[in-house]
Amino acid sequence: MTGATTARRLDEAEALRLGTEIQRRIGVKTSRHEPLARFTTMRVGGPADLFAEIHNLFELRAIVRFARSRDVPLFILGRGSDLVISDAGMGGLVVLNRAEQVRIEGTVFTTDSGLPMAKAATVTKDAGLSGLEFGLAIPGTVGGAVWANAGAHESDVQTILVEASVIAADGTEERRTSVELGFAYRESTLKHAAEGVPEVVTWASFRLDPAEPAVIAERLDDIRRWRQAHQPLGMPSAGSVFRNPSPELSAGRIIDELGLKGRRIGGASVSEKHANFIVNDEKGSAADVRSLAEEVHATVRRERGLDLRFEIVFAGDWSGWVDGDVPA
Ligand SMILES: Cc1cc2nc3c(=O)[nH]c(=O)nc-3n(C[C@H](O)[C@H](O)[C@H](O)COP(=O)(O)OP(=O)(O)OC[C@H]3O[C@@H](n4cnc5c(N)ncnc54)[C@H](O)[C@@H]3O)c2cc1C
Repeated sequence: MTGATTARRLDEAEALRLGTEIQRRIGVKTSRHEPLARFTTMRVGGPADLFAEIHNLFELRAIVRFARSRDVPLFILGRGSDLVISDAGMGGLVVLNRAEQVRIEGTVFTTDSGLPMAKAATVTKDAGLSGLEFGLAIPGTVGGAVWANAGAHESDVQTILVEASVIAADGTEERRTSVELGFAYRESTLKHAAEGVPEVVTWASFRLDPAEPAVIAERLDDIRRWRQAHQPLGMPSAGSVFRNPSPELSAGRIIDELGLKGRRIGGASVSEKHANFIVNDEKGSAADVRSLAEEVHATVRRERGLDLRFEIVFAGDWSGWVDGDVPA
């Protein structure tokens, strides 16, 4: 298995009834059969049974608790930058998080979980606070970054987080520190929540250091240049496909050495620029991306005896997928 998730599908009548109730009780509009591809950086993914976009923490809290109280499978979508959503779409209720309010008190930056990490980097630069520059490299939200303990350029969320507020499975909200979130390399306890019952980050606060905005701006420029040189920017992708097996051994290097750059299945190919990226450069399907990712995984296992761990998440309804299934 490769981290595939499958939530219960809602039938038409249930989706319609729940959507009407969400609109009436919370004041948030919902839609049925909303195609999810445009909300992901890989640009793949079929329709959500029920979909809502929230813009503040009142709406986020209310809709999460509503889903819990009705036993409706829930999925929180940030910027969809770590996901390969199935062509069959996603069961249950998908909530797109666009809660983006921020507050700065001294050197502590507090933000709603829907703020893009890149915006967190520029807002804190303008305020003369250093520490979130690596956020520029992460095309996800703060909530997604806490979930992943995302990191780049010798830093990560764990390094600067003061605390994150999390709605637990039982619906209560509590503040958690890095230790309580079980952070490790691209790891947190949030990644292990039960299917359809995510622990939801509402906001997070970060301790930063005072610095001249001009100095921070230079660092941001360096990061921008590095990404341009090393990553296939401008092409649909979900970032690194695999975690590095160790700090000394990068998954990209192994894949490159096996000559897999440029290998293609359907509309998806292994990036020529960075072998640990799969790019959806010819309007491929989620099945194309997954087939290629599985093929690379199998090749590395066969040739190097290494069982690489997926960094990207195969989300949505993969119930029709057979492991190792590679279309001709
Ligand atoms: C070009 C590119 C470069 C990248 N570079 C890096 C990099 O350098 N370092 C790195 O670490 N990652 C990198 N990534 C991966 C990705 O950006 C991160 O994993 C990011 O943290 C995902 O955030 P998101 O908002 O897009 O989450 P999504 O992809 O939307 O969701 C991922 C998971 O997080 C969960 N989630 C989202 N929001 C919340 C919330 N509020 N509460 C609880 N769970 C939540 C979702 O339910 C899902 O399970 C890159 C991706 C791309 C496309």
